[in-house]
Amino acid sequence: MKIGNNMVVSIDYTLKDVNGEIIDTSDGRAPLDYIHGTGSIIQGLESALEGKSAGDELSVTIPPEEAYGLRDDSLAQSVDKKIFETEETLEVGMQFQAPSDQGMMIVTVTEIDGDSVTVDTNHPLAGETLQFDVAVVDVREPTQEELGHGHAHGRGG
Ligand code: ZN
Repeated sequence: MKIGNNMVVSIDYTLKDVNGEIIDTSDGRAPLDYIHGTGSIIQGLESALEGKSAGDELSVTIPPEEAYGLRDDSLAQSVDKKIFETEETLEVGMQFQAPSDQGMMIVTVTEIDGDSVTVDTNHPLAGETLQFDVAVVDVREPTQEELGHGHAHGRGG
């Protein structure tokens, strides 16, 4: 069975940056299940998996335009220190989850000046070229329920 739109696909993957540092991996966890063609994984990976079958392995290099986008410097904004609900002392480089129009996003503290904190709302992987080693574990038809929900349901539930 080949990967095409609306198929439920299970993959094992390791994600590295251009220096070969591992950013994320499914190693030691269950494979990632997703519905193909719905944009639930990054575009470049979805394109690379199109037409593949269970047992196929691939290594793909994905430019930022097909991953998490280019960095946008206009996404830096100043906020009041008070909005950070943390017991820890704020430090440059800390990351927080914040609600946005597109769901939860990760903001990174880039500057602290008294009560004024500059945060960068670019995705942490924006501007990064990504390398994925992927093994296709399973490809199957979706259930009606999965299609209705727009996401894959795990094995056994
Ligand atoms: Zn569901």
